[in-house]
Amino acid sequence: MEPRVARFAGSLVGQALGDALGFVVEGQGAAACAAHVRAVLRPPRSAGWARAPHATGQYSDDTQLARELAASLVERGGFEPADYARRIAAIFAERRIVGHGPSTEAAAQRLALGVPWHAAGTPGPVAGNGGAMRVAPLALVYADDTPRLHAMAHAQARITHADPRCGAGAVAVAGAVVAALQGRLHDAPAICAPLAAAVQRDDPVLAQALRTLPAWLVADPADAAVAIAATGVDGADGRFGIAPHVTPSVLWALYAALRHPGDYVEAIATAIEPGGDVDTTAAMAGAIVGAAVGLQGLPHALAVTVHDRGGAGFDALCGLARELAALAPGRP
Ligand SMILES: [Mg+2]
Repeated sequence: MEPRVARFAGSLVGQALGDALGFVVEGQGAAACAAHVRAVLRPPRSAGWARAPHATGQYSDDTQLARELAASLVERGGFEPADYARRIAAIFAERRIVGHGPSTEAAAQRLALGVPWHAAGTPGPVAGNGGAMRVAPLALVYADDTPRLHAMAHAQARITHADPRCGAGAVAVAGAVVAALQGRLHDAPAICAPLAAAVQRDDPVLAQALRTLPAWLVADPADAAVAIAATGVDGADGRFGIAPHVTPSVLWALYAALRHPGDYVEAIATAIEPGGDVDTTAAMAGAIVGAAVGLQGLPHALAVTVHDRGGAGFDALCGLARELAALAPGRP
């Protein structure tokens, strides 16, 4: 596999596997999530974990909607928000969605009723992570055009989430994926400073936290988790893990990825250990670190288990990666 295709596949499959691993304990507390990490990742195990009624490797809405974004990019030859919105509406209308968020579901219902993509998003102050969790394929294709990528990251988030903080979170995840693709995920200060500037207007709390993130990276993960869980969420103290709010969940995914930029398994373990919305934190961390380490850097026996009710598994995601790489500028 060509190195660039391997990074694209590492991101798509890395997101699916992180999502699948986190989905088993989604919404549970730190003790249950840390026990799950010990059982399935230390050492990695390719069987014996699943969330009923699904089989081992089932991924959830995070990856389903990232996959639909990738498929839309390939089919339309670039980002067309109306086409992506149609796909979001369809996956809900056809009851194919697995483990969805309330803002995305409400927006999908508005889309199905004919509301245009730019007016369908659930308004603030609800600010879920639905726009950030699915943005990675855009970063793969538009890595060489930062202003355009940021505009597209906001636009795809707005389809379901109208609060500008949701777009800011998507910009942060996209920026980390670009850094990973370019082989510079180990340089946290150089990643965080421009991302902080890019999100300053739409989420000043996220911007300030991004400036603090390099310091958190050298702190104990338990202390960093308490601080990050409380960021942007009134009253949160980390006892219930990382909330599905965009600001702390994006920050925790970045923390996990930047703390272990060359070690996919440790990044996913870190993403899941504090508990909370861990399918999404692990999906985002997996998309980032997967782009850094490439497909060969994922635990292969686990990577080949990913699927969506028996379809759209490892081979299909690798095929999508090939098609995205053919679409992206900069191919040799
Ligand atoms: Mg999910």
